[in-house]
Amino acid sequence: MAHSTKEIIVLGAGVTGLQTALSLLTSHAGYKVTLVATHFPGDISINYTSPLAGGHWRSHAGLSAADALLRAWDARTYEVWLRLLREGDGKAGEGYEDRYQSVCINVPQYLVYLYTRVTELGARIIKSTVDVSSGLDGAVRDAKRIVLSSDPSLDKSFIFALINATGLSARHILEPEEAAKLYPIRGQTILVKGEANRARTYTDFGAGEEIAYVIPRAGSGTTIIGGCKQTGNYDQGVDEKLNDRIIERVVQEGMARELQTGKDGRFEIISYQVGWRPARKGGPRVELEKKSSGKFDGTWLVHAYGHSGGGYQESVGSAERVVEILKEL
Ligand SMILES: Cc1cc2nc3c(=O)[nH]c(=O)nc-3n(C[C@H](O)[C@H](O)[C@H](O)COP(=O)(O)OP(=O)(O)OC[C@H]3O[C@@H](n4cnc5c(N)ncnc54)[C@H](O)[C@@H]3O)c2cc1C
Repeated sequence: MAHSTKEIIVLGAGVTGLQTALSLLTSHAGYKVTLVATHFPGDISINYTSPLAGGHWRSHAGLSAADALLRAWDARTYEVWLRLLREGDGKAGEGYEDRYQSVCINVPQYLVYLYTRVTELGARIIKSTVDVSSGLDGAVRDAKRIVLSSDPSLDKSFIFALINATGLSARHILEPEEAAKLYPIRGQTILVKGEANRARTYTDFGAGEEIAYVIPRAGSGTTIIGGCKQTGNYDQGVDEKLNDRIIERVVQEGMARELQTGKDGRFEIISYQVGWRPARKGGPRVELEKKSSGKFDGTWLVHAYGHSGGGYQESVGSAERVVEILKEL
């Protein structure tokens, strides 16, 4: 029996999974989407990087041929964010263009915006954890079991593809050789009161993995200041001495004087955050799984993980690549 709609499971509800769901639902290719994830917008966990991000567009792509895809993804997201900025109603949390014409995203609000759009477009939402103890095949089967048990009208043969958008947790699902390519780049940030009047980044302090940035969260009355990029560091705790250095640098460089509204010109600190950028040797992986001819239990498996410190700015381009891959199958 032929089916005009194709059932897709998107595993993961970070910016990658949510944007992929949105791009599938707006592709006019007849996809029906079910999002399955442990964490959704509003949740906070070290295993859910997206709410912990800064959220500005500052491409990390170089000029080499190897970075051509990244450049294209970043450019595509930039185009969409600028459109949101011009035509949007602020619901996406977009709101700042700075001197080099970048865009900042208020990440918690942006995740809610994506979530709201995909649910309005009919995505099913299932908050559940897929058992990853039996590798790729087991993960696909368990995700299908979860989806089928939520909707008795579905047949398992209807489920066309599963998109693996599990961020750094993909390392628990993948074959050992691929899993070994994934690692965290630890970030630590401070949420302070007030919205900086523009985003600013200083990268060259000669302080190794420590940098300084200020990213306003439009409409929230808050700003993220950071930070660091500590390769391979799985430490979840807040390093208090690093907090002091972050504040010292931002103050010393006068990066957010308008926010030094506390006692003695200090920042009014709301909270401290630690997040793991989901990095991968060789860059993000957005492709059909090569093993088992790409099919597990009759369902195609497409990966979308490893976006490191660029998951937001790559999100639209990366998601549209997933749609292209599915259309080719
Ligand atoms: C401090 C910091 C600053 C950053 N700043 C920027 C920035 O300015 N610009 C930018 O573009 N990027 C930035 N990033 C990077 C960006 O945050 C990440 O690239 C992006 O959030 C990764 O999103 P993701 O959806 O791939 O993964 P995640 O957000 O980690 O989502 C993973 C999802 O998979 C689900 N999941 C995992 N395993 C399972 C399972 N077994 N069963 C069910 N669900 C599962 C989780 O519950 C979650 O929903 C920053 C990151 C950090 C830490």
